[in-house]
Amino acid sequence: MPPLRPLRRVLVTGGAGFIGSTLLRRLLERPATRVLNYDAFTYAGVDASVAPLRPDLRYEEVRADVVDAAALAYAVGRFDPDVVLHLAAESHVDRSIADPERFVRTNVEGTATLLRVWREHVGGLGPGEAARRLLVHVSTDEVYGPISPPKAARVGDPYRPSSPYSATKAAADHLVGAWRRTYGLSAVIVHPTNNHGPRQFPEKLVPVATLRALRGEPIPLYGDGSQVRDWLHVDDCVAGLIAAAERGEPGATYHLAGGPGDGAAPTEEWSNRRVVEAICDAVDQVAPDGGASGGPRRRLIEHVADRPGHDARYALDSAASRRELGWRPRVALADGLAATVRWYAQNAAWVAEAARAGEGPQERRV
Ligand code: NAD
Repeated sequence: MPPLRPLRRVLVTGGAGFIGSTLLRRLLERPATRVLNYDAFTYAGVDASVAPLRPDLRYEEVRADVVDAAALAYAVGRFDPDVVLHLAAESHVDRSIADPERFVRTNVEGTATLLRVWREHVGGLGPGEAARRLLVHVSTDEVYGPISPPKAARVGDPYRPSSPYSATKAAADHLVGAWRRTYGLSAVIVHPTNNHGPRQFPEKLVPVATLRALRGEPIPLYGDGSQVRDWLHVDDCVAGLIAAAERGEPGATYHLAGGPGDGAAPTEEWSNRRVVEAICDAVDQVAPDGGASGGPRRRLIEHVADRPGHDARYALDSAASRRELGWRPRVALADGLAATVRWYAQNAAWVAEAARAGEGPQERRV
């Protein structure tokens, strides 16, 4: 393997979010690494997710929007990162259906702004120095659209995004691809599958089901719950992003899919119904009183009208990426879900702060 790219100064956009705050924690475990968290702290940027990092002098924070070119150029110029990991995005499919323009602005315009600013910065460094720098753009498995079993999307497969969210992520990927080919920008694109773990904003499947089960409230499940997703623990996702930052070959695209096995097919493909049932069972273990009206929490599952354009299955083939990055997931989904349920049960203060952020006056709930 070639020598690892040094991660002395790492700029993370979207560091106050679910994956970003975990990524910052892992990066700060490296004594020689300094990080800059560039985040607008939208409803999804939870202050409590990064507050414990602030006493560390190697942690810096800029509260600004990725479409604010002047703020971004100032931050990039002053911090002069070795690597930029671009995670800032609007990320909730339901919100993208209610307010697609907001997703176009952050996910497409924001990525275009970052590409312009980063290219200008790297262009001023001289060719040797510029070659050392890397942009890691974080995409999603959803850009490939629904994949029929037993297939799994491979790097280079065509994009068929279904939702406004996945369409804007696909557009952003195409911009990164164009900047690579047209301007020779050093960048990699990484597609993780569905993440689970602590500090996920309580509007996504796992935290919604967990918190409602803990409170003994009805748990809404779209359609018949048969949609299949591949799951990756957030610690494993972050390890993959760091591997891409250290070992990524400029121009390459990587798939991060769940399942500790080394086979080509992902092994953590579960239906949404199975995920929610496992969460109910894990909550029964954590709080055996049975919630408000008693009995196993599975009784709380309620089928609601399906999401428009809901993709039946996502699946990525990550075998090549595992080899190239020397990466593989460590956390099995069943264990990760149980640990995630325990985390939400034990972190009521974080949940309360996230709930307050989500109910802000400009936020639309779906
Ligand atoms: P998240 O919604 O939890 O966090 C997004 C972060 O971006 C927040 O801190 C928010 O404040 C910030 N942000 C939003 N708009 C911004 C703007 N205009 N300017 C600056 N900051 C802004 O998201 P996440 O789940 O942590 O996902 C991170 C990235 O990974 C996203 O790009 C997402 O598309 C991708 N991804 C997520 C998953 C998943 O399962 N969570 C799976 C695959 C890919």
